[in-house]
Amino acid sequence: MKRIAVFCGSSIGHNAIYANEAKKLGLHMSKNNIGLVYGGGKIGMMGVIADTIMENKGEVIGVIPHLFRHEEVAHASITKMIFTKKMSKRKVKISQLVDGYIALAGGFGTLDEIFEVLTLGQLGIENKPIGILNTNGYFDHTLQQLNVMVKEGFLKQENKNMLLVSEHVDELIQLMDNYIAPKMTKVINKVVKSNNSSK
Ligand code: AMP
Repeated sequence: MKRIAVFCGSSIGHNAIYANEAKKLGLHMSKNNIGLVYGGGKIGMMGVIADTIMENKGEVIGVIPHLFRHEEVAHASITKMIFTKKMSKRKVKISQLVDGYIALAGGFGTLDEIFEVLTLGQLGIENKPIGILNTNGYFDHTLQQLNVMVKEGFLKQENKNMLLVSEHVDELIQLMDNYIAPKMTKVINKVVKSNNSSK
């Protein structure tokens, strides 16, 4: 993987363990020449990982909507900042730049971003590895919810298996490097075929 999108909190959390793991991931990425693509903020977990990679001479690309251009939140000293017209365009831009996705501890924004890329994977639109760094068991309850969704028939086990999980940076990156996306019939293709056959 040449570049990874990291989704993580615009907050720092109450326990320093989360920021420490963001630093660890940043160190691993800079040491292994893996560039960071992220929301472009200087605050919270986002700021920690961006600063760590910049301090270690790695590549940091921020993708941020124009709206936030003059906000205090935008990071002023990263390798490159890309401005997009809308939030939705930012997600498309991020996906064009990266070979995989990782979520660290975060809030609504982080969950929105990681579930969106999982949905793209589920539809066969993307086949990049998607991981969560489960620092301090932060995502245990989220993973529990996914089990409920499988049990109740709203999520296929094979789709749940797309999500790679580890508490350790090295192990997570290894899982992502070895990831082979499940063969899926693209839902879009299915829809197109069924539309054509009904003409
Ligand atoms: P949250 O997890 O709710 O703190 O939101 C963080 C995620 O949403 C990040 O991965 C960003 O891509 C995006 N995001 C939320 N707030 C900001 C902000 N102020 N500046 C840049 N990106 C943000």
